[in-house]
Amino acid sequence: MQSSDRFARLALALAGLAVMDVWMQPAARGQSTSGVSRTKASQEVSNVLLEKWSGPYGGVPAFDKVKVSDFQPAMEEAMDKTLAAINAIAADSRPATFANTIEAMERADEWMNRVMPFYGVWSSNLSSDEFRDVQRVLAPKLAEFRDKILQNRALFLRIEAVWQSPDRTKLTAEQQRLLWDFYTDFVRAGAKLTPEQKKQIAGINQRLATLYTKFSNNLLHDEESYALFLTQEQLGGLPESFVQAAAEEAKRRGKDGAYAITNTRSSMEPFLTYSTERGLREKVWRTYYSRGDNGDAYDNNALITEILKLRAERTRLQGYDTFADRALEKQVAKTPQAAMDLMMKVWPAAVARVKEEVSDMQAIARKEGSTITFEPWDYRFYAEKVRQARYDLDSNEVKEYLQLEKLRDGMFWAAGKLYGFQFEPISNVPVFHPDVRVWKVTRNGKLVGVWYFDPYARPGKKSGAWMTDYRPQHRLDGEVIPIVSNNSNFVKGAPGEPVLISWDDAETMFHEFGHALHGLASNVTYPSLSGTNVTRDYVEFPSQINEHWLSTPEILNEFARHYKTGKALPKALFDKIEKASTFNQGFSTTEYLASAIVDLKLHTIPEPGQLDPDKFERETLHALGMPKELPMRHRTPQFAHVFSSEGYASGYYSYLWADALTADAWEAFEEGKGAWDANVAKRFFDHILSKGNTVDPQEAYRGFRGRDVDTNALMRDRGFPVK
Ligand SMILES: [Zn+2]
Repeated sequence: MQSSDRFARLALALAGLAVMDVWMQPAARGQSTSGVSRTKASQEVSNVLLEKWSGPYGGVPAFDKVKVSDFQPAMEEAMDKTLAAINAIAADSRPATFANTIEAMERADEWMNRVMPFYGVWSSNLSSDEFRDVQRVLAPKLAEFRDKILQNRALFLRIEAVWQSPDRTKLTAEQQRLLWDFYTDFVRAGAKLTPEQKKQIAGINQRLATLYTKFSNNLLHDEESYALFLTQEQLGGLPESFVQAAAEEAKRRGKDGAYAITNTRSSMEPFLTYSTERGLREKVWRTYYSRGDNGDAYDNNALITEILKLRAERTRLQGYDTFADRALEKQVAKTPQAAMDLMMKVWPAAVARVKEEVSDMQAIARKEGSTITFEPWDYRFYAEKVRQARYDLDSNEVKEYLQLEKLRDGMFWAAGKLYGFQFEPISNVPVFHPDVRVWKVTRNGKLVGVWYFDPYARPGKKSGAWMTDYRPQHRLDGEVIPIVSNNSNFVKGAPGEPVLISWDDAETMFHEFGHALHGLASNVTYPSLSGTNVTRDYVEFPSQINEHWLSTPEILNEFARHYKTGKALPKALFDKIEKASTFNQGFSTTEYLASAIVDLKLHTIPEPGQLDPDKFERETLHALGMPKELPMRHRTPQFAHVFSSEGYASGYYSYLWADALTADAWEAFEEGKGAWDANVAKRFFDHILSKGNTVDPQEAYRGFRGRDVDTNALMRDRGFPVK
């Protein structure tokens, strides 16, 4: 279910030490320090970003004290201190043990852990030209920093000694997994390479870091700098709420009286769905799908060519055939072929469904006396008409029952009923923007975490929705409770008015909250293995399954209430939603798969040379038989998941993989007593939600389900025939 851009949440799935991901994952490998730093940490620090978190809940980030000018000195100091501590672990004269090597590295992420959550928030929620300048300076330094740790020969020899020690078998299962994780990460990073090879890799990484930052800044430029200003006469078909938001946006941009259509997904999608102005639809479509591809100073094509070339070069040095082979090695899928096999199982059914959808839409167009040839900017518009004709389901009518705050209460309630979580709003912690609100989280009366919610769009905030953790749960030296956040881009309503959201957005909200629950439920010893620090083709499983509870009668009856009458969503309307739930699966599955397949194919080319991304995209789609009536969800020049970091490079398939797990796991509830089956929920909590990365995901899944995943459940879930 890729109903919105929730993919931006890169880092939490980080297994491959992606450079730009580092900031989002405090426990990422290679930021550890020895216990030494804990004594140092109590010393005076000059920079607010390096101060120990104080206040309630085991300390919280001082978001109210941040100055952008503090970032560079804080980060540089944190890196220096960390490297000094790492060197101390490496130089330890005692024989290497789990405690003085692995645990020591786990223990002392302190300095980086303090500064990274701030850096993450300023990157994603509060970006500015000033901050982007800081990022440009720091990106290559962070890459260099990471390499200095991963390429520390003496450190690796100690890790290897622990790995090869006969005492390994005496460690707990969690410790053994942590050790395996460290050891394989270092080997994968090139610990066994020659100094010359390492130097080459470090150079490549630094260059890549710069390219990633440039890629994402180009994209942001094309999203922010462009808006289409409409007059009153050009608003045909657009819903009232959308028009109001467009008027507000125009005003903000100094064009009072006009209506601004911004170049973001949250503007583009409703505009293409409702606008009766075909010429304007084409214009909005072309602008959106040309981001990063305009042949100007912000064009991403040359960057992609260089990124692919450098990735391939590095892959060869690392001893793998292709980037994808290496990237998938530690994933649940394990090989590119396994990932491709699952996608190609679904692809023909998805394309066949697109053909049916197009013919349904053509029938409607004919009835209206139109003889148009379908173009990509017509798909959403006519799909909405088919939806209304077939299901008599008016998205705007549904929206009137979907109030942001009530649904938030609903997701709290579901988490309570399923897993025993309770949420209570608090105002005693600093926030980075007045729109951010915070809740404390308890379970069976015990404080288990803190949840931050940053719901509204604002300039400088990246698009989409994502979850991040400011602090992972662990109990390395006593219980540390997790601090997690959900972030989205809802359009803020007029003062006192409820924010109404679409069904898709409601699903996205439950989705992101599923990630938050994964962080909050964590019950592990070591921070690196905590919560959402799992492989990327597994991390979307807890979030995707959480979407299912939105459409339960219990949630809809109680929490989907009409914003004016307060009446519950009528049964008849709910039945229509249910019936419509596999509607347009041809479109959404195909636009997603096209991107995922192109991603994987780009990264299974051993020698990309001077690859032309546009040409490659065109030829690959042609060979696949991509229907001409719709585009890829993310065209290559705007595929931030893949080119603004390594988080999802050759990993965009992960969503489908996680969907397969989700569909099969949901059938476990259905085979039981339904959505609220307490035994299945308990098994899910015990084997999946609370385990983090302390057990192999396949094993964890078997613990929950009693068997391996059945991929036919995925086909059933999407309403595709099962062969
Ligand atoms: Zn997600």
